Amino acid sequence: MRFAEVAAVWSDVEAASGRLEMAGHLAKLLAQVKKDEVKALTNLCQGILAPPYEGLELGLGEKLAEQAISIVSGRSAKELETHFNKSGDWGAVAEWALGKKKQMSLSAEELELNGVYASLVKLAKLSGSGSQEGKIKTLAELLNSASPLEAKYIVRFCVGKLRLGVQEPTILDALALLRVPKVKDKIAGFAPAPGGKRVPVEPKWNYEPEGKKEKELSTADSDASLEFVFTCIDTKSMESASFEDGAKIEIVLEGLAPLRDITVTKIRPVKDRADYYRAVLMGFKKSVRAPLERAFNLSSDLAHVAELALFDYAKVEKFQIRLFSPVRPALAERLSAPADILEKIGPCAAEGKYDGFRLQVHKDGERVELYSRKLEKVTHAFPEVVEAARKLPAKHLIFEGEALAYSKKEKRYYSFQTTIQRKRKHGVAQMAEELPLHLFAFDLLYLDGVDWAVQPYESRRAALEKLVAGQERIEASSIKQVKSGPELENFFEHCLKEGLEGIIAKDPSAPYTAGARDWAWIKLKKSYGALADTLDVVIVGYYRGEGARTGFGFGGLLVAVRNEQSGNLQTVARVGSGFTEEEMVELEKTLSAIKRKTKPAELESSIEPDFWVEPKYVCTVSADEISLSPQHTAGQANGKGYALRFPRLMQMREDKGPEQCTTVAEVERIYSLQKNRGK
Ligand code: AMP
Repeated sequence: MRFAEVAAVWSDVEAASGRLEMAGHLAKLLAQVKKDEVKALTNLCQGILAPPYEGLELGLGEKLAEQAISIVSGRSAKELETHFNKSGDWGAVAEWALGKKKQMSLSAEELELNGVYASLVKLAKLSGSGSQEGKIKTLAELLNSASPLEAKYIVRFCVGKLRLGVQEPTILDALALLRVPKVKDKIAGFAPAPGGKRVPVEPKWNYEPEGKKEKELSTADSDASLEFVFTCIDTKSMESASFEDGAKIEIVLEGLAPLRDITVTKIRPVKDRADYYRAVLMGFKKSVRAPLERAFNLSSDLAHVAELALFDYAKVEKFQIRLFSPVRPALAERLSAPADILEKIGPCAAEGKYDGFRLQVHKDGERVELYSRKLEKVTHAFPEVVEAARKLPAKHLIFEGEALAYSKKEKRYYSFQTTIQRKRKHGVAQMAEELPLHLFAFDLLYLDGVDWAVQPYESRRAALEKLVAGQERIEASSIKQVKSGPELENFFEHCLKEGLEGIIAKDPSAPYTAGARDWAWIKLKKSYGALADTLDVVIVGYYRGEGARTGFGFGGLLVAVRNEQSGNLQTVARVGSGFTEEEMVELEKTLSAIKRKTKPAELESSIEPDFWVEPKYVCTVSADEISLSPQHTAGQANGKGYALRFPRLMQMREDKGPEQCTTVAEVERIYSLQKNRGK
């Protein structure tokens, strides 16, 4: 595939107004990609070179990019900077400079997708002395063969600001859209759902009697939809009530599981052809997307899932957990009262909620790897956990636990702030001595050939306890079976006294819900203000210090949550308290390094802070209340969004990235819990 095609579609993606429209554009690329190009395409579209656990990051300095642009375009650094000061985008600078190239290059060749990817990987791997020059040379070579539009995206990618707004869910949508035409060949009939009598049909795909251009998919709607024409062999049944507008039907597929919950809308006869009907099927996305999403949740490897989806689909449906490909973590729902939890899931197991960081341990004999909540490989940082995992009586194993600094002798849990000091690159051995971690294991996913993730919690827990019995540095999380609200409340209070953050109640019959926030786990945390939970928010801007804070150059943060529908960030608070003096100094230093001239493209904000920053860092905030305010854009409806009242910084969350922040749907939940509480 030529890179020019990729760049042209990216340009459409940038102009698209919603996730599904973006997916529609990406689907066009995915439909043409060759098997050995899938990895390059899926990664580059997301602005990455590899999934986080491979640790291959580019992050080229802007100065280096500027030099490369200057070499290729013949423009001086001064000229380029003047242009940058207007746009704040090195990609736009490259597009402009190359569009006005002073000298034509002789050696330019058309760029290929795989070639661009290989050069970017090479760039990322260059390190050590002389690497700066090597990077400038490699980038200049790429730009030399690039059109202005290609150059724009290459440079943006290199400086870590591709900003297409394409995330994993968008690519899954695109793959799902592509599945639809393939399913078409297998349609054997319709049945009124659930389980009604099958009506055989003969789909005439995209039949356009007027000879109009074929319209494969209509992605302009708010959900994926597919419009097509079919003949109905049994015309009598067609006229029956089961096929009226809005009817729920099941599509019977040859040799495949039926597509359920399809809503037929706008069934109408085709003009001039009495035996032809036109239908719009809604809901393909959900059912077609589910196996793709499942495979992704089990592997976190989108490139691999895409390759299977496009070239070996049967393997998507049979997808299995794999060692050293981290499973996307299950997440907890929240409730604010023990009785509500019992009402929701009935008698359950309550576990202590430890405030450290989550580790997913993969083991194959002596090889052990640890993955963080962000799915980064963090093996090197925790040698004592690796050592302890080696001792477990299992050859092949995947399990999860919360690691924290803990004194077994005094039975004392250290705070998150203390534990997080262990997340470092240097001085690892010494810190492992000074502040050894203890791993509280809470779930089992895979053990010696058995996929435990699909088993009910009860059985997983029993197998987990057996696995870690008698170990020194790894033990099972504390647990209590509870049958009533007061019993759960007692255990909750007990956990708080022990120094834990609260409890997580677990539904005994639920499987491990990879990548999903589900009622399988419900958390109950000690109360912070009136809210049922704290929020993990992304820092998108900050304020200059005033009054007593002038000296720190720091006066507060503008923070945002993610709208899971659009994928955009939306502001939820201006945080002005909870900072220590050291934190203010530290924050000013950290944030001034990622300042930007313009509002991040993925952010919706009606407030302008003194400085915008790259949405990179996450912090936990508590608040007294959530109110509705015209100031903030989080979940905005009728001109008002959710806003935190009296927000306070609790801590920075180095273990979470902007993809793991609180979502608008969660804010909505916390808001409704607060309303119910007041009743
Ligand atoms: P939160 O980050 O507040 O949404 O809470 C969920 C997190 O609690 C998980 O991602 C784990 O890191 C952590 N956690 C602590 N103890 C447990 C436990 N016993 N079971 C499950 N997760 C736990």
